[in-house]
Amino acid sequence: MSDGYLEFSNSYFGKKLCKGLGLPVPPLLRRANQTPEQTVTDILVSNVQSATTTAILSALNDTNVHQADNLSAKYNGLIFDATTITTTTALKSLYQFFNLNLKQLNPNGKIAVIGLTAQATVSTEHTIVQRSLQGFVKSLAKEVGRKGITANLLLASGSESNSIAGPLRFLMSDRCAYVNAQVISVSQHQIENKLTWQQPLAGKVALVTGAARGIGAAIAQVLARDGATVIGLDTPASQQQLQQTMDNIKGSSLPLSVTDSDAGQQIAQFVKDNNQQLDIIVHNAGVTRDKMLSRMNDSQWELLMDVNLTSILRINQYLLNNNIIAQAGRIIGVSSISGIGGNAGQTNYATSKAGVIGMIEQMAPILAPKQITINAVAPGFIETEMTAAVPFIPRQLGRRLCSLSQGGLPQDVAETIAFLASPYSQGVSANLIRVCGQNIMGA
Ligand code: NAD
Repeated sequence: MSDGYLEFSNSYFGKKLCKGLGLPVPPLLRRANQTPEQTVTDILVSNVQSATTTAILSALNDTNVHQADNLSAKYNGLIFDATTITTTTALKSLYQFFNLNLKQLNPNGKIAVIGLTAQATVSTEHTIVQRSLQGFVKSLAKEVGRKGITANLLLASGSESNSIAGPLRFLMSDRCAYVNAQVISVSQHQIENKLTWQQPLAGKVALVTGAARGIGAAIAQVLARDGATVIGLDTPASQQQLQQTMDNIKGSSLPLSVTDSDAGQQIAQFVKDNNQQLDIIVHNAGVTRDKMLSRMNDSQWELLMDVNLTSILRINQYLLNNNIIAQAGRIIGVSSISGIGGNAGQTNYATSKAGVIGMIEQMAPILAPKQITINAVAPGFIETEMTAAVPFIPRQLGRRLCSLSQGGLPQDVAETIAFLASPYSQGVSANLIRVCGQNIMGA
């Protein structure tokens, strides 16, 4: 469903009227296109002497990077290396950099602050100061969101921080148009000799559940765009729609319900029959059965838990026990901001989606020896058939109550999942990335 207010308020007359009445005009977000430029150009990087700044510059060596303040220049990205800030007094350099340069950032620009994980800090004050970066970035994101600008925090796990290259490039690209105020932690890892920014998923096989429509169809399309061979899974009742989606991306269809007790076996058999191994699995299939708890019946609880959580654990267990997921594979769950903040009428849904977060936290260390990463995205209000069914007033509120004043598109969730699926997110595990435009729910 399209957002009529967003379109109207950005039309010639609509903009004048909204401004005259003091109504907000949500920014038109710039998104990555079919052959996405990986990063924006003209990025100002803070002039800090550190291994992290060296890593930042090397990660962006194919784009226009500036280090000297030039107050007449315009930028599309601002990056501040805060890793060397060890005292509360030194935090002032963070304020000074943005105070001086923020006005030069174009609409739809990208901001990244680079800090350190608590494990990488060297003193109590260093740990405290690094934690305080979160308050800065989240507030900054709220200030700049009305211009379509996003601000995020990347935490490196050491001063030798080449590992941040992939995540940094994602945050400096239009692929993260709806990812705002997030904290992404990256651990040290062996970098592949040559990462391919274009088609990073070439040669990989990805299975996406719930791929017939909505967010799942967009995930399938973006993974295919990035080079993956995609297997789309959806219910037998959705077979026709699934087939159409898969035909468009030269993928294959696997009609079955994730709740089938042998769904894991069926997936494994399908993969083997096609002489494939599974590199990526995206657990996207999900349902809602909204009801106030006192009026909820057993089947509304049971069906939802089965689709949204139990089936994911069952499928993972089978595929992992039988080595169907390849070394350095990717498991990606789709949670929800309801699973973080809770929502009236969604005790069942929020329980299942919080369980997805529990799954990534619990399984990440277990999977680390095989270099398999496990992460989740938590979409906010995304324009799909699921949210089109939400009544008018909550639907409008769902859209506007975020720093970007609008709902996201399925593509926004898909771009984040494609990043988590790619080789350049190897150091990212047990991370939950909200794709919600900094929605106030659970923030
Ligand atoms: P959707 O209803 O448009 O699509 C869900 C897909 O899952 C459908 O194709 C459906 O047939 C499939 N599915 C349902 N039960 C299945 C089963 N048992 N086996 C296999 N496939 C099954 O929903 P969507 O909005 O695209 O949501 C996708 C995911 O994103 C869900 O997990 C949802 O909870 C989550 N999410 C969505 C939003 C949003 O705003 N749309 C917000 C937060 C989280």
